[in-house]
Amino acid sequence: MKHDIGCLQAIEAFYAYLDGELDDPDSIADFEHHADHCRSCFSRIEIERALNQRIQKTAKHSSPEVLRDRVAELMKRF
Ligand SMILES: [Zn+2]
Repeated sequence: MKHDIGCLQAIEAFYAYLDGELDDPDSIADFEHHADHCRSCFSRIEIERALNQRIQKTAKHSSPEVLRDRVAELMKRF
């Protein structure tokens, strides 16, 4: 069953998903459903996914805390 969730809920669910804290398939389906219909969340999730892949690639070379701060700085610009 799909719920209509707002942008904030979708992004929060997505962050939890990235952190591995979201294992409820319904919640994952909810934000994916929202992202399919919301252009702004779709772009944001694409950016986050790209950043996350980048972090995973470079995590071996720098500390995760430094990267997390850098990403937080980046996100303030959006
Ligand atoms: Zn949205």
